[in-house]
Amino acid sequence: MAEIGTDIAKASQLLREGKLVGMPTETVYGLAGNALNPEAVTAIFETKKRPSFDPLIIHVGSLEQARSFIRFFPEELMALAESFWPGPLTLLLPKNDKIPDLVTSGLDTVAVRIPGHSLTRELLLNLDFPLAAPSANPFGYISPTRALHVQDQLGDKIPYILDGGDCTVGLESTIVGVEQGQVIVYRLGGIPVSAIEQVAGPVLILPQSSSNPKSPGMLKSHYAPKTPVLLGDLDTLVSEFSQRGENFGVLSFNKVFPEIPDARQVILSPSGDLGEAARNLFSGMRLLDKADVSVILAEELPEKDLGKAINDRLRRAAAK
Ligand code: AMP
Ligand code: MG
Repeated sequence: MAEIGTDIAKASQLLREGKLVGMPTETVYGLAGNALNPEAVTAIFETKKRPSFDPLIIHVGSLEQARSFIRFFPEELMALAESFWPGPLTLLLPKNDKIPDLVTSGLDTVAVRIPGHSLTRELLLNLDFPLAAPSANPFGYISPTRALHVQDQLGDKIPYILDGGDCTVGLESTIVGVEQGQVIVYRLGGIPVSAIEQVAGPVLILPQSSSNPKSPGMLKSHYAPKTPVLLGDLDTLVSEFSQRGENFGVLSFNKVFPEIPDARQVILSPSGDLGEAARNLFSGMRLLDKADVSVILAEELPEKDLGKAINDRLRRAAAK
């Protein structure tokens, strides 16, 4: 099993040796390795069983570090970096030769982010290389939002997990790029589209269900528990499955179902707060996936602000 701790020097040392470390960020926990070391990058793909066509995000500690790995900074994206870095925003930038093709799956852009978690930024500023870090889960499964989630699934494959507590955003970063002057959102995430548009003007959101090779993270089925997820009107679903006598779990936004045992229901935010719901989404899905239920009944949240990204994850979790 991996050691769990808060020792930045130890994490740095392991990373310098080319090893992989579980790393907290404000979005989800990452499986981090030296992005400039092809062996470490290969190990990331193998450890996650991630297909090699699905490129990685590199994490840097400063704008200056970001600049050292790109050819130029498109001005539309610079404005976004100034507004939202450090934070849950990933920018697709024209890569230079320092970034191995393995990292970007051969694309000529590299996904870059300055994470907002203080421990992680300290780690990054301590290193003279960027960290490639996809979410620290087997490919296709729910992303981890606490150190124990990483331990559960990858603990036997990595030496150390840096413990930064529960993720404060709980959803992956919003991925944004620009093509011919048009700003494009490739993945909905921790920064709502409305906030992006306040800075960058109207954006294009790439179709949600594509398996477009340009953004393989947009695979239709993703972020999925092993237990099937059924999305719909919760009252209807709950009464239907109760009548059938099935052992189901419930993932609700703010509604309580008094007749369902606590162990089989997760209420994302009793007060109806979208930020709180985002923080609880993945841990709630994990909890229900471990409960002895044959199906998870869930509902979409209000389609606004973070609700859009939450609904995106719920739909992918429900997709087969
Ligand atoms: P994860 O690290 O698991 O959150 O996934 C990162 C996602 O970023 C991937 O699934 C890709 O879709 C996306 N990504 C990374 N680099 C690029 C790139 N150069 N162009 C388009 N999408 C990218
Ligand atoms: Mg992932």
